[in-house]
Amino acid sequence: MASHGCVDWQFSGSDAAEEAAAASLGTYSSELFALCDPNGKPILPPRSESPETSHTAEKAVVKAVICGTGNAYAPSIGLPVARRAVAEYLNRDLDNKLTGDDVFMTVGCKQAIELVVDILAKPNANILLPKPGFPADYVRSIFKNLEVRRYEFIPENDFEIDLDSVREMADENTFAIFIINPHNPNGNYYTEAHLDQLARLARELGIMVVSDEVYRWTVFGSNPFVPMGKFSSIVPVITLGSISKGWSVPGWRTGWLALHDLDGVFRSTKVLKAAKEFLEINSKPPTVIQAAIPTILEKTPKEFFDRRQSFLKHQVDFAYSKLNEIPTLTCYMKPEACTFLWTELDPLEFLNIEDDQDFCNKLAKEENLVLLPGIAFGQKNWLRHSIDMETPILEDAFERLKSFCERHAIIGEASLKNVNGVN
Ligand SMILES: *Cc1c(COP(=O)(O)O)cnc(C)c1O
Repeated sequence: MASHGCVDWQFSGSDAAEEAAAASLGTYSSELFALCDPNGKPILPPRSESPETSHTAEKAVVKAVICGTGNAYAPSIGLPVARRAVAEYLNRDLDNKLTGDDVFMTVGCKQAIELVVDILAKPNANILLPKPGFPADYVRSIFKNLEVRRYEFIPENDFEIDLDSVREMADENTFAIFIINPHNPNGNYYTEAHLDQLARLARELGIMVVSDEVYRWTVFGSNPFVPMGKFSSIVPVITLGSISKGWSVPGWRTGWLALHDLDGVFRSTKVLKAAKEFLEINSKPPTVIQAAIPTILEKTPKEFFDRRQSFLKHQVDFAYSKLNEIPTLTCYMKPEACTFLWTELDPLEFLNIEDDQDFCNKLAKEENLVLLPGIAFGQKNWLRHSIDMETPILEDAFERLKSFCERHAIIGEASLKNVNGVN
């Protein structure tokens, strides 16, 4: 028992979140940043910087503050004007139209993910999650004791979902398949034909499809983005989104969850009821941002997204070309969305690198450069490289990566001796 002076304190912290927290992206990245030398070269990528957002979004929030439209509590399911605006925005691409009643406002896309896990978590239930994938769904499932089964992708086939693996791992206790589209970290997005196949498979298996579409505004490939909601006449679909990535405002913590129902299935299976109840006991996104959502979604000029997408495309092209000079890392596909490169690492090509985590630790220590290890996304011996930086900084990052790889590669053995503290 902990004691202080003569008092025997009767409390101690719970360790219920220990395992889940260890799997979170924040834990991986803060441990790597902590390995960097604050007195050394500038630490890359620069932390806590976001690209500029649109002035339309800024002005909408300022207006909400000045007019006081966002000062009160909002209903637990969200401000009606915000819910309606999200429904109308999503309807641009849908035949089966949503109304504001189908949309719930959440604290970023992350809370929308947590909410779906909370709604579905039951003894013996399992869900299918992507491997690799953004880990919030996995983290929440650990916390909720929901069994996770991880389906895979086919890198040689533009990272399409391996639908055979999905079919094999699903059973009568499977509730849902989560997809991320556009996919973080693979950097692709799915064709209409592929999503159609997925919808039919999910229907055959009797499971819903949950689609995290938070990156739908950072697409720079040549095909149009197709939202999963389009297939709600085949299978019940939940789509998740937020303004975090598209408007570069992750700190505004505002997102949503939309129920694309099929003939009232969500009602009869009590999913709708559960969603409302869980929202009732959870925290809500700031009302002041919700009040600005209609203007943000409707009025942000197309040029804002065009500029951002062409910037990202340029940075991806540049980073991808730099990768040509690093033969020890393999990139299967030049990304067409999101803000990363995703590469495979073969530890056998290196002298003293055990795995992806070891690679990232040594890279942070020696080069003040943080890449995230694949294991943080559920896939060992891969690496995620951020490309969302100005060109000179990106060039610096890839130069450091190149010299690190050359120093540690088996063919670069001779130069290893020149580096302090490595051998
Ligand atoms: C960043 C990210 C999220 C979290 O979004 P927030 O709106 O910041 O909560 C969810 N899913 C994916 C795939 C992401 O990359």
